[in-house]
Amino acid sequence: MSVQFHVSDDLLLSYAAGTLDEASSLLVATHLALCPHCRARNAAADAVGGQLLEALPAADLSDGLMPSVMAQLRRPTAAPPPVPVRPTSDIVIPEPLRSYLGGDLASLRWKRVAPRVQQIVIDIPGCRPQARMLRFQCGTQVPAHSHAGRELTLVLSGSLCDRDAVLQRGDVAETDEQTEHQPHAGPGEDCICLAVTDAPLRFKGVLARLMQPLLRI
Ligand SMILES: [Zn+2]
Repeated sequence: MSVQFHVSDDLLLSYAAGTLDEASSLLVATHLALCPHCRARNAAADAVGGQLLEALPAADLSDGLMPSVMAQLRRPTAAPPPVPVRPTSDIVIPEPLRSYLGGDLASLRWKRVAPRVQQIVIDIPGCRPQARMLRFQCGTQVPAHSHAGRELTLVLSGSLCDRDAVLQRGDVAETDEQTEHQPHAGPGEDCICLAVTDAPLRFKGVLARLMQPLLRI
């Protein structure tokens, strides 16, 4: 089945412009590896960006802008945003995510964070948003929570039911401080996803708050 839930224009444009943080770029690039539709959108965003630069009058480049562009180029940069690579057939975790994890699904060392929930924190030095792999046993309910910032989720295996949507392999959910939700893993298969969060989640309810230090998300 093809991907139904895509990355937003905002996210894709920041990715194409290279202004997105590395953790979020990793999620976008991994989605692109699974989604021909967004690879085409990304190519278009790249082309438009290039044309905009070419269309700038020469005068604009000579006073003010050019030195600032050069300063940007000289600035020591963080790691370049990950580049999507199309997956080969029987690999569950596509590149570039697989390289960040050091292998495909079978080689991963999960840490239990709550009953029926396991995670792997992906260490990205100097990056504030945090990337983690999450594995929910099928049917597991995630405690209701809202967000202090943006949360991106990319489903890699199994399914995740969030509000009225059922997300499957390749699908992306993007939530912000306005969203309060209580997703749960679909039946049949464990749900494995890549999640990128800007700031700690705010859990609702006493039990959920008690669980938060355990979940560390
Ligand atoms: Zn897409």
